Amino acid sequence: MRLSQFHLATVKEVPADAEIASHRLMLRAGMLRKLAAGIYTWTPLGLRVLRKVETVVREEMDRAGAIEMLMPSIQPRELWEETGRWEKFGGQLLKIRDRKEQEFCYGPTHEEVITDFARNELKSYKQLPITFYQIQTKFRDEIRPRFGVMRAREFMMKDAYSFHLDMESLDNTYRTMYDAYARIFSRLGLRFRAVQADTGAIGGHASHEFQVLADSGEDALAYSDGSDYAANVELAEAKAPEGERPAPLAELERVNTPTQRSITEVTDFLGEDPRHCVKTVMVRGTEGLVALCVRGDHEVNEVKAAKLEELPGESVLASEQEILAAVGAQPGFIGPVGLPDSIPVIVDRSAAVLADFVCGGNANGTHYVGANWERDARIARVADIRKVVAGDLSPDGEGTLRLARGIEVGHVFQLGGRYAESMGANVLDEGGKSRSMLMGCYGVGVSRIVAAAIEQNHDERGILWPEPMAPWRVAICVIGNKGSTQALDAATELYQALAGRGIECVLDDRGLRPGPMFADMELIGIPHRIVVSERGLAAGTFEYRARHEADSKAVTREELFELLDKPLLAEGNI
Ligand code: ATP
Ligand code: MG
Repeated sequence: MRLSQFHLATVKEVPADAEIASHRLMLRAGMLRKLAAGIYTWTPLGLRVLRKVETVVREEMDRAGAIEMLMPSIQPRELWEETGRWEKFGGQLLKIRDRKEQEFCYGPTHEEVITDFARNELKSYKQLPITFYQIQTKFRDEIRPRFGVMRAREFMMKDAYSFHLDMESLDNTYRTMYDAYARIFSRLGLRFRAVQADTGAIGGHASHEFQVLADSGEDALAYSDGSDYAANVELAEAKAPEGERPAPLAELERVNTPTQRSITEVTDFLGEDPRHCVKTVMVRGTEGLVALCVRGDHEVNEVKAAKLEELPGESVLASEQEILAAVGAQPGFIGPVGLPDSIPVIVDRSAAVLADFVCGGNANGTHYVGANWERDARIARVADIRKVVAGDLSPDGEGTLRLARGIEVGHVFQLGGRYAESMGANVLDEGGKSRSMLMGCYGVGVSRIVAAAIEQNHDERGILWPEPMAPWRVAICVIGNKGSTQALDAATELYQALAGRGIECVLDDRGLRPGPMFADMELIGIPHRIVVSERGLAAGTFEYRARHEADSKAVTREELFELLDKPLLAEGNI
């Protein structure tokens, strides 16, 4: 590609709402243009990168035996009614109406469409197992689209769906897909981890997320320093503390805490340690309020709490009015002692072993000290309802947990029977009996990967693409002298020679001064830069610089070929 014939449009000023490096750099490099909130145009430069990612994903899906197809993005309401998701999917589902008043949605995902396809196409066990995939545009009306294409409303996903008659077959394909994902992210040169993930309120089946490690990531991950255990914090189990609860020593006493509501305020005021406090969070249960109690230095894990049978499948905080009406105190002063019998008290394992603890007094401006379970406060149930913290024992018993942040770029999930059953997707088994199929689904955030890669690979001058994702591997920059085409001619010849060796390059023949030309190539992250100048030609050399190196060096044509024939190593998994 000759840059003079391309539309490269880097920009100096980026909007203030671009909060993270990848968003800023994608705008500055001119890879994206915003059309509306969470909706972007991929410029020719951006598209080159997106296509690179797509290619790796496609190659690995094909290699894993998945079969490519393409489903529509507009989906009829009736299909979504069959699975109950027309209502249940919530506000992310963009609903639209056609001129005949028929209702549709813009597909946020394709379980319904693929299951409909499968029930029509698949008739016999002989056709199983089978995995279909597509690379296609999704729309989710995200509450808070942000970070550019990282959390967009319209985005590109690779989604695959597998069909089986038994769990063993589902397990096998799940493993194949898991391995394919590991290869995809390794080939793309990303540092990532596969972590156990939540399977939602329905639960029960395996699920892993592939997380690119980055401080700006929206997901919190926990991993063991002594084993390969890794999980999304949403899911990570907090082990029960060892040992029994000590016997009560203190008397229960109500103390005045006139304005102290938060754990920090209360413990500072009373000179106590937050680890000797019980924090109470009121949520809406299926029948009235439910009190969730965790240790003062811990937080309730809403995803775990949502799975409690007392809760309706989600964890919603009670309002101040609801709490006042039920308990007679404001949220900062509530605790497990003396709550009405109608409110079950569910206690985290770490809070359940406390004795002589501090908790809310259930009257405004008061707390209790010297409180004890059973003697002073009922326990309906002890359960694991807190978020793990760094230093917790690893759930597998080996090592302690550390925390990291990640960007979810892929998700593999055993759906089991739920879609096939509700939509009647059956095949005949070996005995000629009609049986419902099992399914797996496997998503990759193709457009999000582009942003995630930049989060991991950038410096103050711009992007440092892992080679497999770079818009071009090599930039040939021409420094011309007035009235002479010598440098341009030599650069063009070199460009053709490299292209002939299968090395993808771009020729910067825009006639810019070296400063702005180099700045552009650094900003857009081209891994290798070659400068062709009359001075170099006179010495029989080119000036070469790798994007991640500080210095350039003079190399001969042969040295250059040798250098570029071998790709830079991808960093791969950690
Ligand atoms: P998230 O928790 O980030 O919202 P999700 O669990 O809703 O993701 P899935 O339904 O599993 O995502 O979709 C598969 C993949 O699509 C995700 O792993 C992610 O990489 C990508 N993805 C999901 N939502 C978005 C979005 N709003 N913008 C860009 N990519 C997305
Ligand atoms: Mg989501």
